[in-house]
Amino acid sequence: MSRSFIPYGRQDIADSDIDAVVTVLKSDWLTQGPTTPRFEALLADKCGAKYAVAVSNATAALHTACIAMDLAPGDILWTSPNTFVASANCALYCGASVDFVDIDLDTGNMSVAALAEKLETAYRAGILPKIVVPVHFSGQSCDMEAIKALSERYGFRIIEDAAHAVGGYYRNGPVGDCRYSDATVFSFHPVKIITTGEGGAVTTNDPGLAARIARLRSHGSIRDPALMRKRSEGAWYYEIAELGWNYRMSDVQAAIGCSQIERLDEYVASRTALADRYDRLLAGSGLSLLHRDRQCRSAWHLYPVGWNEAASGVTRAEAFASMREAGIGVQVHYIPLHLQPYFSDLGFRQGEYPNAESHYARSITIPLFAGLSEDQQDKVVGELLKMIRKYK
Ligand SMILES: *Cc1c(COP(=O)(O)O)cnc(C)c1O
Repeated sequence: MSRSFIPYGRQDIADSDIDAVVTVLKSDWLTQGPTTPRFEALLADKCGAKYAVAVSNATAALHTACIAMDLAPGDILWTSPNTFVASANCALYCGASVDFVDIDLDTGNMSVAALAEKLETAYRAGILPKIVVPVHFSGQSCDMEAIKALSERYGFRIIEDAAHAVGGYYRNGPVGDCRYSDATVFSFHPVKIITTGEGGAVTTNDPGLAARIARLRSHGSIRDPALMRKRSEGAWYYEIAELGWNYRMSDVQAAIGCSQIERLDEYVASRTALADRYDRLLAGSGLSLLHRDRQCRSAWHLYPVGWNEAASGVTRAEAFASMREAGIGVQVHYIPLHLQPYFSDLGFRQGEYPNAESHYARSITIPLFAGLSEDQQDKVVGELLKMIRKYK
C-alpha cells in the first residue's frame, strides 16, 4: 500500500498489543489457556452481559448461536439484505432456509415496519421465522425494543449481528447487553472497531446458550463429569456430546483483544469525532448522510454517503472510480445479498427489497478509522466536493 493511499478502514496496533502477544508466546499456553477466558470476562463486562464466548470469527459466532437455538432443516431465519453474507449463511449451514426483510433507507437498518408486515403475512401462512438477525449497519443499533416486542408477539428468537457495533449504545445500554435479544455477535476482524486478527464472540445472559456455544466451538466435547451421559472413567475422560467444530479463539489472538478492548471507548470517541466532522463538512453538499437515531450512540464502523447522481451529473460508479484514482480507498456496503448469484439460485429476485437496492445504487463508504487524520479527512471531503462542483 502506498503511503498516500487512505484505506476505508484499518487496525490500530499499539506497543501494548505487541507486548501482550509476546507475553502469551512466552507462556505455557498458545491456546486453551487463561487469556481467552480473560478476554471473555472483559468483553462481558464491557457489554453488560452475563456471558461472553470467544470464537474464531463472527461467522462461527453466528453459526454456533443458530445451532444453540436449535435452528434446523425446515426452519427459517430472517435477516437484512444490506449485510455481509455471513448474516444469512449461518442459516444455510444449519440446513435451514433464509429470507430477508427490507431496510429503512435513512439508516440502512432492518425496517421495523417491513418486519411487522412480513411477520403478519408469514403468521397467516403458518411459516414464521425461528430466528431474526437484525444487523446494526455502520455501528448504529436497530430499534431493538420494537423488534423484541414483535418477537414476543410472534415467538421468534433474536441474534443481533453487531459486527459493526462493539462499543455502541442503544438507549443507554451497551450493544451486547442482550436486554432485547437472546444473543449478540461481534467480529474482531482488522477492519472492525477492535481486532484480534481474526476473531468473534457471542454475548448472552442465558447460561444454557453460553454453555452450548462453548461446547460447539470445541468439537461438542464435555469435561465436566456432572454433564456426562456415561460415567467418567478417569481424569483423561471426556465425552463428545454432539457434533461440534474447532471454532476456538487462540490465546495469542485473545491477548490482542484484552489489550485492544482497553482502548475501545477511545476508538469509538475518535470515530465519533471524525463522523461528526464529516457531517459538518458535507452538510449542504447534496450527499445524503446517515440519519442519526437519537436512541443510539453509533460505534461508527462505517461512514457511508449517498451519492446524488441527479445533482452532480456524475454516476456513482464514476465518482467511486475517481475517488480510487485520487488514492482514497472507498468501498460499497453492501451489494444486497438477494442479488448475489448464489442467492438468485435460491430463488430471490431483483426488485424484492427495493430500499436495499436503492441504498446499494447510491452508496459510497468513505474512510473512517481511529487514526484517520484531519488532513486525510479534508482530502477525502475535497475530492468529493470537487466532483460535485465541477459538474454543477
Ligand atoms: C464482518 C462481518 C461479519 C463476519 O465477521 P467475520 O469475523 O469476518 O466472520 C458478519 N456480519 C457483518 C455485518 C460483518 O460486517
